[in-house]
Amino acid sequence: MPSEFDLIARYFTRPAHHTRLAVGDDGALITPEPENELVISTDMLVEGTHFFPDADPAALGWKTLAVNVSDMAAMGATPRWALLALALPRADEHWLAEFSGGFFACCEAFGVDLIGGDTTRGPLNLSVTILGEVPRGRALLRSGAHAGDDLWVSGTPGRAALGLAHLQGRTHLTNAAPCLEALYRPQPRVALGLALRGLASAALDVSDGLLGDLAHILERSRLAARINETALPLADLLRFTDDARLAKSCLLSGGDDYELLFCAPPQHRDAIARLAGPLPLHRIGTLIEGSPDTLILTDAQGRDQPLDPRGFDHFADTDCP
Ligand code: ADP
Ligand code: MG
Repeated sequence: MPSEFDLIARYFTRPAHHTRLAVGDDGALITPEPENELVISTDMLVEGTHFFPDADPAALGWKTLAVNVSDMAAMGATPRWALLALALPRADEHWLAEFSGGFFACCEAFGVDLIGGDTTRGPLNLSVTILGEVPRGRALLRSGAHAGDDLWVSGTPGRAALGLAHLQGRTHLTNAAPCLEALYRPQPRVALGLALRGLASAALDVSDGLLGDLAHILERSRLAARINETALPLADLLRFTDDARLAKSCLLSGGDDYELLFCAPPQHRDAIARLAGPLPLHRIGTLIEGSPDTLILTDAQGRDQPLDPRGFDHFADTDCP
């Protein structure tokens, strides 16, 4: 049975690219650029709550880091360093090799050095702390939106939730692969987050569902919002399912896609539209004066319908993919 130190050396020690001292000492040493602020965030993945016990370990490794990188994207920060705290029920070396392969693939993809962590025995629990850099004062916050700002969302939110519904047998997707890919290997929108510095007034990443996460921006910015139903990227989801009701509910309240939801003044519309390439950007609504629990959906006929902004609540249910 390998010791904790053997496991760390074998599976979690790789050359660091921009770190003075990484894994192996009592602490790591990092040197941020002097003009930058550090952005720090933690996200934990728990077996049974965030993933099935038999989840593919390589995909889990990717996702464990990716959900943290996504928080950096949402802040408009460059992800730089990560710490990994692991509780493992046993030293399963096949599992560890696959998991660390997926984790380091995500490190490589987004320029992150793994600089430390902790490894202990216990029910499977994966916790990452990530550090990123952003020029002082330029981070994208949830609190900066103004009445009259446009509301935008990247990509095709709802794909991961459709993939989950397919896995759980609640629907049968004709083309499940892109939805399962979104669920297993989310692509944090780092390049978009960086490009939105100076354009977006507020931003966050959609982890718990578009409406629920929008509610956080409304709360922080003390505003209400109107969403244009016809502007929602529903057609993109209808390529995977013909159940329009399910597609709409996945779009509005499905979590786990890690798309960016952001606000920007209308004068930046063209600049933002120019950022869209393979990743589409959808202008789905407007921020308006009003109480933060007011969310209005305007349908194709111009009729207003109040929406329930409640997103997914970890304590009310499980969201086990
Ligand atoms: P200490 O007892 O000083 O806390 P540990 O034995 O826990 O040290 O860890 C030894 C080194 O390995 C430290 O640099 C720590 O940051 C690193 N480390 C431990 N677990 C992990 C892990 N899962 N991933 C990356 N680095 C780790
Ligand atoms: Mg330790």
